[in-house]
Amino acid sequence: MGIAIVTGASRGIGRACALELGRAGYEVWANYRSSSADAESLKAEIEAAGGACRLLQFDVGDTEAVAAALGDLSDSPPEVLVNNAGITRDGLFLTMQPEDWFSVIQTNLGAFFNVTQPVLKAMSRAKRGRIVTLASVSGQGGNKGQSNYAASKAGLIAATKSIAKEYGRWNILANVVSPGFIATDMTAELPEKELAKAIPLRRFGGPEEVAKVVRFLASEDASYVTGAVINVNGGLYM
Ligand code: NAP
Repeated sequence: MGIAIVTGASRGIGRACALELGRAGYEVWANYRSSSADAESLKAEIEAAGGACRLLQFDVGDTEAVAAALGDLSDSPPEVLVNNAGITRDGLFLTMQPEDWFSVIQTNLGAFFNVTQPVLKAMSRAKRGRIVTLASVSGQGGNKGQSNYAASKAGLIAATKSIAKEYGRWNILANVVSPGFIATDMTAELPEKELAKAIPLRRFGGPEEVAKVVRFLASEDASYVTGAVINVNGGLYM
């Protein structure tokens, strides 16, 4: 099997995706920004299971850093890209600082451009590829205190649907996985018991429950799925 790039793979959902794709036989190129020890332990875990993993440290929002780290991928076109890295900087819109708006838009949505463009170039030459991007229930319904985050995630959905239309004929499939509340560092401070009352399945999801859907979208079984938004949210409606 070929190469699968996962951004934000050191922790949470990205880590679960990297492990799942490693188990599926891909050579995992695992990106992270700052959690070096977590990234090293991910690499060790994939290798201990007989897989291969290469660590790539860069900030997905930094256009030049991404270009320098990925370089020209034409000799090693990735088969799969998982755009997962993301941050929140929550606050009500009227008091939101410019830094909180722009850092979220750049890290979540700017990164889509930075990472997807060089990968897509190589995929289009190879005439095959799967791109899976993590959005959020906030990007579908909006969420109080998350105008920046919701806007970035809605943008990712629209960008993915556009890419799906542009490159379907080159056998490149692009889809979105849209999680609800998933138990990771990002949601560690949230009152799960309280919030779970509004979730039909009455609990937060696990990162591996998202990763299995990502693995499905990367697999041959999803060969006629593109431009789709797959909810992994326990039935949560926002
Ligand atoms: P998390 O636990 O906070 O982990 C975030 C990961 O992204 C870390 O590996 C982090 O790496 C990496 N990252 C952050 N900024 C980065 C940057 N600028 N460049 C490279 N890597 C960066 O988050 P998560 O809960 O797993 O969320 C993963 C994705 O799912 C995000 O896009 C998030 O918006 C989405 N999502 C999550 C939930 C949820 O409930 N958890 C719900 C809906 C959608 P370092 O630690 O090395 O910085």
